[in-house]
Amino acid sequence: MKKRICLIHAGGTIGMVKGKNGYFPKEGYLETILDTIADLKTEIMPEIDFYEMSPLLDSSDMAVEDWNRIGEEVAKRYASYDGFVILHGTDTMAYTSSALSFMLENSNKPIILTGSQIPLCEIRSDGRDNLVTSILIAGSGMINEVCLYFGGRLLRGNRATKMSADGLLAFDSPNCPRLAEAGISIRYLPFAPQKSEDTEFSLCRLESVPIGVLKIFPGISFPIFDTLMTEKLKGIVLETFGAGNIPGEGHTLLPIIKKAFNAGSIVTVCSQCPQGTVTLGAYATSSPLVEAGAVSGYDMTTEAAVAKLYYLFSKGYSSEKIKELMEADLRGELTK
Ligand code: ASP
Repeated sequence: MKKRICLIHAGGTIGMVKGKNGYFPKEGYLETILDTIADLKTEIMPEIDFYEMSPLLDSSDMAVEDWNRIGEEVAKRYASYDGFVILHGTDTMAYTSSALSFMLENSNKPIILTGSQIPLCEIRSDGRDNLVTSILIAGSGMINEVCLYFGGRLLRGNRATKMSADGLLAFDSPNCPRLAEAGISIRYLPFAPQKSEDTEFSLCRLESVPIGVLKIFPGISFPIFDTLMTEKLKGIVLETFGAGNIPGEGHTLLPIIKKAFNAGSIVTVCSQCPQGTVTLGAYATSSPLVEAGAVSGYDMTTEAAVAKLYYLFSKGYSSEKIKELMEADLRGELTK
């Protein structure tokens, strides 16, 4: 029997047209284009139903409420389809794929986000292959998790990051092997599949709790951030140097982190390096972070760390539990 795939259009370049202020997503437009793509009508394709969300968004305009809208569209149809392909803008696609990997609890179906750098309405659009291959993968029965497909690469959703603002190989997952590569044929690579527990699928809606990301740079004046890092900021992702290092000069950051931690904020240490892991305590410049109460984000992307903080706070867990789970592998988002 043919697999049934639901194609959900959330917005992004793939379905944009040119207006007087630049590209924008036009309602009703993508469906007319899909009708002209012969590949979608071939025998090997699964059955495809199309659903367009409203409003369609440039993904730069998306926030937590939009992740909830997408999650709800998937949840409503979850039982009726074998898989989902979500058309989405590239700018924040890795945030959405990270968020969905946490929100769609106990999901064991392929949910693949894709889009394009060049709109389908333009020549040389990368949208056609991204769309057609994503649908083939979603219908293959080989994948059971939230993924991002782009430029021939199938990536774990919560490991993906946008690497290029204008290249067609725009995404990669530097800390996690690709799940598949599409060349002349689609080659599925050996990977540890998501633990599929025998519990029922459910959607966890996210709450828009205040989260901050602070990128450390040489010469940073920490006292300026003292007023920001209060109990009002629930989760903080510190993008540190290398393996989790911060400038020790005067140790002005540590009392601020300590204060935030004592007020119930969760400070998660990630690295500015796209590849490799945080190892707190490896250097004298990172040890004090542990004493101040920060947790290690190991090799998580900032996108995944932000999404995970939203998720854990939305679950209503205690600070202690959130601290513990930030350092645990929930959906393949980190390697310890
Ligand atoms: N600004 C667009 C978006 O993220 C870029 C894209 O889709 O490539 O929606």
